Amino acid sequence: MNPNYLQTPLVYLKGVGPNRAETLKSELGMETFGDLLQLFPNRYLDKTQYYKINQLRDSGADVQITGKIIHLKTVEQKRGKRLVATFVDDTGQLDLVWFRSQKWIRENIKLNEFYVVFGRINKYSSSFSMPHPEMELLTEHQAGLKINMQPIYPSTEKLSNSGITNKVISKLIQQLFIETKADFEETFSKALLDELKLISKVDALLNIHFPKSQELLTKAQFRLKFEELFFVQLQLLNKKAIRKHKIKGLPFDQVGEYFNIFFKNHLPFELTNAQKRVIKEIRNDMGSSAQMNRLLQGDVGSGKTIVALMCMLLAIDNDYQACLMAPTEILAQQHYNGLKDLVQGMPIKIALLTGSTKKSERTFLHNQLENGNLNILVGTHAVLEDKVQFKNLGLAVIDEQHRFGVAQRSKLWHKNSIPPHILVMTATPIPRTLAMSLYGDLDISVIDELPPGRKSIKTVHRYDANRLKVFRFIKDEIKKGRQIYIVYPLIQESEALDYKDLMDGYESIAREFPLPDYQISIVHGKMKPRDKDYEMERFVRGETQIMVATTVIEVGVNVPNASVMIIESAERFGLSQLHQLRGRVGRGAEQSFCILMTSHKLSNDSKTRLETMVRTNDGFEIAEVDLKLRGPGDLMGTKQSGLLNLKIADIVKDNHILKSARYYAIQLLKADPKLELPQHQVIRKAYTNLVKDKAIWGYIS
Ligand code: ADP
Ligand code: MG
Repeated sequence: MNPNYLQTPLVYLKGVGPNRAETLKSELGMETFGDLLQLFPNRYLDKTQYYKINQLRDSGADVQITGKIIHLKTVEQKRGKRLVATFVDDTGQLDLVWFRSQKWIRENIKLNEFYVVFGRINKYSSSFSMPHPEMELLTEHQAGLKINMQPIYPSTEKLSNSGITNKVISKLIQQLFIETKADFEETFSKALLDELKLISKVDALLNIHFPKSQELLTKAQFRLKFEELFFVQLQLLNKKAIRKHKIKGLPFDQVGEYFNIFFKNHLPFELTNAQKRVIKEIRNDMGSSAQMNRLLQGDVGSGKTIVALMCMLLAIDNDYQACLMAPTEILAQQHYNGLKDLVQGMPIKIALLTGSTKKSERTFLHNQLENGNLNILVGTHAVLEDKVQFKNLGLAVIDEQHRFGVAQRSKLWHKNSIPPHILVMTATPIPRTLAMSLYGDLDISVIDELPPGRKSIKTVHRYDANRLKVFRFIKDEIKKGRQIYIVYPLIQESEALDYKDLMDGYESIAREFPLPDYQISIVHGKMKPRDKDYEMERFVRGETQIMVATTVIEVGVNVPNASVMIIESAERFGLSQLHQLRGRVGRGAEQSFCILMTSHKLSNDSKTRLETMVRTNDGFEIAEVDLKLRGPGDLMGTKQSGLLNLKIADIVKDNHILKSARYYAIQLLKADPKLELPQHQVIRKAYTNLVKDKAIWGYIS
């Protein structure tokens, strides 16, 4: 088929008028034939069986019945009304019920004609009903394309309310197949199809929408998933190749005084092997003439900060400036203090820039940056503002990147005429294969080793009923000179409730731990930044023993003397968040503890999360469990990453397909980097159609 055909607006499809076209666009983002063809079903229903009403059981199953509507009435109920149709066959009767789209049904339904209805069966006392059934006149049903498995397409309330039911979607797709004569172009080379035993593109599309059998459906799914992932990988690999070969970077070819003197005289501890390895990787990157774009993964407490600093020293050694950005003011402040301590006695100028930096100071800072007097700028998003200009920014480090969007990252590129090297640090571990597909265009370094002497944190799960015991434990720890975090959930939807929980908790803690023996800090989102910082600092300085807080302390905060983390309503936190919170303790020499408090009511997922936390401290293992529980949707960056608008594949469930797709994409580019060989023209064509940024070939060839 002419690929332009796939670009044809949906209004030109028979059965789609301007109204439907508009609704399809607003609800499912579909505008063209191609979009509709790629609206893949979420699931399939087996419609090989027809039931009689007297065969119905209270099983909650979706079933298919043939019969007639003999009566239609509207029933008033507490809120609104419902439409009820009496549906009969030769064995009995049941009610069809609508709560929505009643007008449309009323106007379109035909009494006393044979219908095939399909839907879930409910049982009330002794009679059955079927809410919002799918309906089709028996005549149409018999004339329709015979399918054994009925696809269920993604839908929205508005779609079904405006009459664009699953049935209608299916009909439209049928129409699309008729109008295009299913003349869809193959996108894989013969060799690849043969080697992987893939079915053809046409067969795959046909069987994904109108499966002839379970077996063919599986084959269709595999083929389309593989195809999708393969082309994503191809794009990522190409992007990376372009960056490596075409985008000039600033060559940091010197390892000079700053780096060496720091290494010799200022390093407060011996680097772990992982830290050394990663610094070497980064040095190699920045020393080459390509721009670095590297993701540094390291579990909480693995010592990413010192790595960042040493890389910044390399920048300074090569007469460039560096900046370090953190997602919150508290963190930026902490980094600033930490870095200043580390380089004390060295002629390095560091400054802090955040939203609350005073105007006069700001102006001074801007000048210092522009004339090159300032070596390192630490800050929040404020660093990205256009007014902030560097003399020559060589390296930008972004800490905890999941709070920064891609757009913000790209702003950094324009802070210098040649883009600075970029190092993104994250403590959210992502399994490696997944990382490759999310950030396939980035290089990845991993610190997979904690500094020596760390005692692993002991984690326990306690029910609220055991609170007094927990309080006693806290008192013992405080007696030993330790500090305690007590964290409450903060979930946007019920902010008021959360706030109340926090305050109630605070009060009971204040009663249990009274002044003057105990000092308590409290930090939450409703406080002014200045008050927050004040409370935080009291805790950092050890003036308070207990920090009661919402999750604002989640990332990065470093108080080595704090050895107990108590997480209230732990069942309400996600796994990675629990792991991040736990990482706030275990930073000093003492044995640390994490206590997960919950009520007795726990869902299965919550139980799995709690058990996982108790079982392991390994961030990567936790990330794997988290992915299985939640899917990749929430992973950092995935939402912004347009590449990952996957239509059919699931990067977690289809991980094995992903690996294979990546492997074959690498092989292909190895054999034919510019896809010039005649046998690869099909792939090249498909690829070119996919990639919006056509310039990509300009770079490559
Ligand atoms: P994160 O990776 O979570 O940002 P940090 O850089 O904050 O970790 O380091 C956590 C703590 O470990 C800091 O107190 C830091 O000084 C210390 N640290 C880092 N590297 C080492 C090391 N090689 N040996 C001993 N302590 C280290
Ligand atoms: Mg950190």
